[in-house]
Amino acid sequence: MEHREADVIVVGAGLAGLSAAHGLLAAGLEPLVVEARHRVGGRTLNETLADGTVMELGGQWLAEGNTRMGALARQAGGSLFRSRAPGVDLLELSGRLRRQQGKVPPLGPVGLLDVALARLRLDRLVGSVPVRAPWRAPHAEELDGRSVGEWLDRTVRSREGRRLLDLAFTTMWGATPHDINLLQALAYIGSTGRFDNMTTTKIQDRVTGGAARVPHWLAEGLGERVLLDAPVRAIVHRGAGVEVDTARGTVRARRVIVAVPPQLAAAIRFEPGLPHARLAALRSLPMGAVVKVSAVYDRPFWREQGLSGTALTDQGPVTAVFDNSPPGEGGRGVLVGFVPGEQARNLAGLPTAERRQRVLATFARLFGPGAGTPDAYAEKDWVADPWSRGGYFGLPAIGAMARSARALGEPFGRVHWAGSETVLKDYGGMEGAVTSGERAAAEVLAALTAEEVGQPV
Ligand SMILES: Cc1cc2nc3c(=O)[nH]c(=O)nc-3n(C[C@H](O)[C@H](O)[C@H](O)COP(=O)(O)OP(=O)(O)OC[C@H]3O[C@@H](n4cnc5c(N)ncnc54)[C@H](O)[C@@H]3O)c2cc1C
Repeated sequence: MEHREADVIVVGAGLAGLSAAHGLLAAGLEPLVVEARHRVGGRTLNETLADGTVMELGGQWLAEGNTRMGALARQAGGSLFRSRAPGVDLLELSGRLRRQQGKVPPLGPVGLLDVALARLRLDRLVGSVPVRAPWRAPHAEELDGRSVGEWLDRTVRSREGRRLLDLAFTTMWGATPHDINLLQALAYIGSTGRFDNMTTTKIQDRVTGGAARVPHWLAEGLGERVLLDAPVRAIVHRGAGVEVDTARGTVRARRVIVAVPPQLAAAIRFEPGLPHARLAALRSLPMGAVVKVSAVYDRPFWREQGLSGTALTDQGPVTAVFDNSPPGEGGRGVLVGFVPGEQARNLAGLPTAERRQRVLATFARLFGPGAGTPDAYAEKDWVADPWSRGGYFGLPAIGAMARSARALGEPFGRVHWAGSETVLKDYGGMEGAVTSGERAAAEVLAALTAEEVGQPV
């Protein structure tokens, strides 16, 4: 059993926790990271084939302006490259496969106009919501109390336009539009600028060797200061410090940073107990649902047909596919697919072989029979993972956005908070995770310094 002491205990070895610990160590403090899983990286995950081909099964894209994540990727020995391959995109709606050249979706005139108007209206609303303080938006309470689905019900008239927008929201949030909080959606889109950017600058760059090289590099730098297989059960304020009860023993420190998804933080016992409002905020953020799949081929053969590898389909179970091949010419071809929301839950209930067969049938329908027989295939059901309980990120319940957004970053006694759900800019993404960890480390440093010089904290 471990009975270690440290200056600061960080709960969770995802990007947030590891960035926090990295910052604390650089500042001369002794952090100890306690992680439930047998691996680091949390919602980023690489699976590497014997020939070195990487399948990214968790977070992977950097958005324009994700400078902290970009800097860490370079420090970790990686480099960034543009994600998008040239070529024609595919859109399959109501069983009809269409080709999309450029940005205009291949819809009939009514659907096209409908979608264009909806985007305009949405962007106007996005512009009215301050990303870092969405509760200050005009009519914030009303927006918080509505779902994206309700807004679409009132705004979009054509069936085709609605199908496309439902598909886009479901894929990007991992939930059906009726489960997406409108205020959260507006702030989230605002973080990237406007709705169209969600499929362009939001998924702009990738990291050579996969995004998960960043947490691995951070953990390497921390060495034995990362304790794996140590789920935290309780956090107890005792005297001038904090005791953290893990499955591998009790560890002690002057301060704690909790860097786990909100629903998992709500499952930890706190002494004294968390105030009701804080607990309610944590509980009001269930994760979206997603299964991510990856298939590897001898080459990116779809490019030979002029296809970009990007496809959206409402036929399921996969709803979106992207070319995820390594950079440069002459290498392997990799496709990634996303199975979001209800589709994810339905797929998860099937036997392994049937899941694979259904996913690859979608790939084959879109890119030809060759796509149905990859050299390697992997899938990750994030909902079934007890240490994530879903993905991509926590979705504020309808009516709970303003409350949870204000409460989640606030320290509680000697406990500080990090995680991609505790920031508003870059919410739910890798950049948000990193900046939240850096923010929490700075907060702890300031508190410990103040304590040392005898100032009240
Ligand atoms: C399929 C998928 C695709 C995504 N795609 C992108 C993308 O392209 N771009 C992007 O920017 N973001 C993406 N994301 C989101 C991004 O991966 C996350 O926002 C980010 O990695 C979260 O980091 P975190 O450190 O806040 O949390 P996590 O990565 O969830 O880390 C939390 C850690 O805490 C541990 N933990 C939980 N409970 C306990 C406990 N009780 N005791 C100890 N440890 C505990 C967990 O095991 C985990 O390691 C994606 C996510 C998923 C799932």
